[in-house]
Amino acid sequence: MKCNYCEWRCKMPASVCHMYQERNGSIEEIYPNQWTTYYITNTEGIPLFHGWPNHQFLQLGAFNCNASCAYCINARVAIEPERKTFRFQLAPERVVKIAQKANCSGIHFSVNEVTVNLPSALAVAREAKKHGLIVGCSSNGYFTKATADLMLEYFDFFNISLKSLSNDYYRKHAGLKSAAPVMRNIEYLASRTHLEVTTTVVQTVNDHEIPAIAEYLADLDPQLPWHIFRLLPEYKMENRQPPDIEEISSKVKKCRKILPNTYFSNYIGTQLINTLCPSCGKVLIERICAQSCGVTLSGCSMQGNICPHCGTAIKMTGSFCDTSCPDGEEG
Ligand code: SF4
Ligand code: SF4
Repeated sequence: MKCNYCEWRCKMPASVCHMYQERNGSIEEIYPNQWTTYYITNTEGIPLFHGWPNHQFLQLGAFNCNASCAYCINARVAIEPERKTFRFQLAPERVVKIAQKANCSGIHFSVNEVTVNLPSALAVAREAKKHGLIVGCSSNGYFTKATADLMLEYFDFFNISLKSLSNDYYRKHAGLKSAAPVMRNIEYLASRTHLEVTTTVVQTVNDHEIPAIAEYLADLDPQLPWHIFRLLPEYKMENRQPPDIEEISSKVKKCRKILPNTYFSNYIGTQLINTLCPSCGKVLIERICAQSCGVTLSGCSMQGNICPHCGTAIKMTGSFCDTSCPDGEEG
């Protein structure tokens, strides 16, 4: 029997992610409702720059992954969980109660790949929707189209990691067979839900692809938000240099002419996390990055989703949260 949650389509009992088994004629999770991480973050920290600004989200993560990225910053839980990762059991109802108690507007699945514990994530999502919460995920995008449809029933947003346009890169550095399923899913989701895309830059490995990825995304949606993440390599790439800020910034500025909502984050003081009006160039949303991954909204001059200077409509899903959100704390 095959598992069809992701494009490995593993024939049981083999399971690339070690998270599913065949039982009584169906594919089921081995570790239902088991998680490794929960903490609170603001929307911008997800990162999500064009949806539900300044809201708080409960970030929930499990363990294991269907990929094995050589630079994975979460390798301890995503690739090598046998290192006695602490796991805890939380029923969907309990997750939602924690989110509500912490004044979160929604739940965001991250840390590991949500596809490998999808039934548990969907159970949380179903419960969250009963209580009016927003639901979304960060994902490597290697899921099947059937999985995309399952998630679309409950998920309001996706941040998909497009590591490269090259199959070779996916094979060599991410342990996946090709970029094609990820690109297919980006194309599928772009017209169906709130989508943002993240590309982790590994200096000298995929930084040359930045203009081509911008062109590809702009063809799908010229206002698509794209996060270029300055990777501080870990795991098997820990000896590599982090991307050069000036070099990548210069590429990002050029990309903004093709894809205006291109951002460059994960270093203190970056200005390339502000949203500019694509028509008049005025700064509409200001954000600050005061610590590596932490981005906070610091100002917004939009009227609804309209530029007050020239009247251009800016891509934005959901409304601003007026209450200030504290920095995330480990749960
Ligand atoms: S989700 Fe896991 S078991 Fe299922 S196809 Fe993907 S890697 Fe294989
Ligand atoms: S997809 Fe993400 S969690 Fe999985 S190995 Fe790659 S970087 Fe780590």
